[in-house]
Amino acid sequence: MSHNPGAPWAFTLTIGGRPVAGGPTFDVINPATGRVVAAAPDCTREQLDEAVTAARAAFPAWAALAVAERRRLLVSMADAVDEHTQELAGLVVLEQGKPRPVAVAEVAGLALWLRQTAGLELPETVNQDDGERWSVTRRLPLGVVAAITPWNYPVGQASFKVGPALLAGNTVVLKPSAFTPLANLRLGEVWRDLLPAGVMNVVAGSGSLGSWVTGHPGFDKISFTGSTQTGRKVMASAAQRLARVTLELGGNDAAIVLPDVDVKEVAPQLFWAAFANSGQICLATKRLYVHEDVYDDLACELVRLAEQARVGDPSESEVDLGPVSNRRQYETVVSLLRDCRDRGYRFLTGGLPEDGGGGWFVAPTLVDDPPESSRIVREEQFGPVLPLLKYRDMDDAVQRANAGEYALGASVWAGDPEAGQEVAAQLEAGTVWVNEVMHLDPLVPFGGRKQSGIGVESGLAGLLEFTEPQTLSVRRSRR
Ligand code: NAD
Repeated sequence: MSHNPGAPWAFTLTIGGRPVAGGPTFDVINPATGRVVAAAPDCTREQLDEAVTAARAAFPAWAALAVAERRRLLVSMADAVDEHTQELAGLVVLEQGKPRPVAVAEVAGLALWLRQTAGLELPETVNQDDGERWSVTRRLPLGVVAAITPWNYPVGQASFKVGPALLAGNTVVLKPSAFTPLANLRLGEVWRDLLPAGVMNVVAGSGSLGSWVTGHPGFDKISFTGSTQTGRKVMASAAQRLARVTLELGGNDAAIVLPDVDVKEVAPQLFWAAFANSGQICLATKRLYVHEDVYDDLACELVRLAEQARVGDPSESEVDLGPVSNRRQYETVVSLLRDCRDRGYRFLTGGLPEDGGGGWFVAPTLVDDPPESSRIVREEQFGPVLPLLKYRDMDDAVQRANAGEYALGASVWAGDPEAGQEVAAQLEAGTVWVNEVMHLDPLVPFGGRKQSGIGVESGLAGLLEFTEPQTLSVRRSRR
């Protein structure tokens, strides 16, 4: 099914292999215009129960299926994603507001993650194999997994959860953000006939659906990506029945620029590190510490890049940066900008947006060396605003970069990569890059330290998050 222009889009929940519509709906808004894109089905409590019941009923047969067969099905899911790339990317553009090439890359990432995950092997360790005893430790699936995702990469976030959960033998209920449910609902439709009924369910809802999911006794595991604030609630709710959790939470990533960099070379990389997807990336650079020797030159280059960037409605023209993705996030970003203005911090470019125009646009904004204690430095902006922070002494830069509650990613930029590596070794973060940033690989785990999360996604370690070890020990000799 592809969209027929002029006809209203009809989206359905996927529950037990069936389309489920009817009942209440909620509006999905295009952030570039403020207008309604489509009405999404609003999952009721009863429908959530049905999804969990279907997933639970499907679990034993799915877990018992040969791993080779689960691998084959993951690859067919990837093929189906490839066949629908343009349509899925079009939905992401409309509901999330990113430029089309970024949305296409996001959808391609899902197919890549599914294929690469399909090749992973669950380890089996023989602990003892002799005349006395045979003992083996295997990894078993957990049961029914809830996958809860945020709005910044609606398809991309699903890719970190769906493939590994299914390969390990779990069944899944996927719940995207209420701001961006459409591409995920469509994925449910695209995958519906490929998998046994109930293995992969997709629900969407406004209001309390997230807390219904985390409080539901039928889930064995909650794999959650979102803010630290919500992550705490998820963990508290899961604790009531000791449901397993993986929490991928907020970040306030620092980048440290050493004085020996080639400013012209690193400036575009740093610009996109901070402003890609309008700054709405968990691993985006959110604080830029620049040595005083290169601060003015780098600031100048970044201003030039910001002023060149084309900001606009991604469904109407070729743009580099779309709007902030929803009104709630726009208000967060505007409140931070207002705080900067009220306290007299200088905008090198950008600043508070003018009212009106329909969409939630904020021009890429650079804040000139605000105090370390300012909100724009301490809080996660998750939008197109970057504080530039001057340092003289490397120990001071490292100490400031490590301050705060978050520890998701960090990067170091250096002419001499070995010197960069020495600094990187002192940074507290789940991933630290030198002379690059945000490089993710389906086979490499990533996750947050401190308040940025618990557990990891991707790679073998990410797959193991959807399993539990079981040891089978067989006594061979009589005592
Ligand atoms: P959010 O916490 O508001 O929402 C995330 C998801 O949780 C949504 O699906 C939402 O509907 C659901 N939810 C809301 N309240 C809930 C509740 N009480 N119980 C259960 N679920 C609930 O986050 P957001 O605004 O969608 O996303 C932005 C945040 O996500 C940022 O902090 C960003 O850094 C973080 N993020 C982290 C990663 C990572 O990998 N660490 C990746 C992307 C985004």
